[in-house]
Amino acid sequence: GHAITDADIAAGRRAYELDRAHVFHSWQAQGPFTPMTVLKAEGSLVWDGEGRRLIDLSCQLVNTNIGHQHPKVVAAIQEQAGKLCTIAPQHVNDARSEAARLIAGLVPGDLNHVFFTNGGADAVEHAIRMARLHTGRKKVFSAYRSYHGGTHLAVNVTGDPRRFANDDGDSGVVHFLPAYTYRSYFGATTQDEESERALRHLTDMIELEGAGNVAAVVLESIPGTAGIYLPPDGYMEGVRELTRRHGIMLIADEVMAGFGRTGKWFAVDHWDVIPDLLAFAKGVNSGYVPLGGVALSDAVFETFRDRPYPGGLTYSGHPLACAAAVATINAMRDESMVENAERLGREVIGPALRAMAGRHPSVGEVRGTGCFWAVELVRNRETREPLAAYGGSSPEMNQVVAALKSGGVLPFANFNRIHVVPALNIDDALLREGLAVLDSALDVADGFVEA
Ligand code: PLP
Repeated sequence: GHAITDADIAAGRRAYELDRAHVFHSWQAQGPFTPMTVLKAEGSLVWDGEGRRLIDLSCQLVNTNIGHQHPKVVAAIQEQAGKLCTIAPQHVNDARSEAARLIAGLVPGDLNHVFFTNGGADAVEHAIRMARLHTGRKKVFSAYRSYHGGTHLAVNVTGDPRRFANDDGDSGVVHFLPAYTYRSYFGATTQDEESERALRHLTDMIELEGAGNVAAVVLESIPGTAGIYLPPDGYMEGVRELTRRHGIMLIADEVMAGFGRTGKWFAVDHWDVIPDLLAFAKGVNSGYVPLGGVALSDAVFETFRDRPYPGGLTYSGHPLACAAAVATINAMRDESMVENAERLGREVIGPALRAMAGRHPSVGEVRGTGCFWAVELVRNRETREPLAAYGGSSPEMNQVVAALKSGGVLPFANFNRIHVVPALNIDDALLREGLAVLDSALDVADGFVEA
């Protein structure tokens, strides 16, 4: 690539001033916010406003699964732009048709049709709407410690504190406790106990709410933003069995975990679970052009064969986004990126993080699969007191994040966790370099461990 010039840095400074003057940012108190400027990005590298090189272990918001500026995807977007930039959703276009064919071929079971959205939140919302219309029921179950998006219903099914300010209390959403063994809500000390007790809890709650009133259970196949906590053995299979028994739609939210992130095309593939609806976004085209969607089963599809679906979006199946999806999926296949993600998790990230857990008393737990890992930081390994409270930040966590950045890593941090979520095709040496920076940053976290 091109070197960063003084002119680039000056342009970045101007962009920063304009940003602070005119841009309103997601989730922030606008005043104290000091965003990082990005001058360019390539593969797993990002250059900040001062021209400093950072290793991107965040994939932005865990979406640039094939890294930045993949040449085949950039070329496909350019080619599509030269042919046809946009077309209304009711017209056929080849990019959308091919994207739908590829996605229907990758998702499990008989999820043979795809409804395209602009991103993940609207994918979740449409999946819920389809489930409600298909079942004729209203209630939707979703887990605490989950994230499903920032639009109205999506933030209401979200199970983290960002929901509170948006919850109208009349959404039809019922939250249940997740299977999260490290901080078990059920007093479980083993994965098997956690699985059994969490399933018992969900079964009880569904029965108490009236199974016949429940349209759907919405579940991240592996919860992402909330901590990459893998469901214990048997849990997802149990949820599938429970929902099927009661005619409840299982909506797998694979917005973050899908498209190779976990070392399989979809996280549900780890347990051979086939949901009724599957929401995707992010990795479908590595975020190069906004895109999400819902893959739906033949049974759900049949509901709308003779009855209009009451929902749609101007940009559903946008040609530029779909061309990017086709090129992304083909590049992932041609370059064996899903297999590589599995290998990186098994050979590089897992062993490195487990070694860090052995060395650093601030590490409460490391867990993950593929290119999807979390490091949970604590003040005390016995009590498991987190280094930042659930839903909040702390000066201590801020120092750990600052150490990562000054060491040359762009991290994904959430509450008391650092997530290691690199591109599926990150170079091994670069990944090891980034992990070494994390190792040093954990020395800072160790300084806060209670004696
Ligand atoms: N669902 C999950 C599991 C997510 O991780 C996210 C975003 O992080 C969303 C839904 C929302 O997607 P979007 O921000 O594209 O609307």
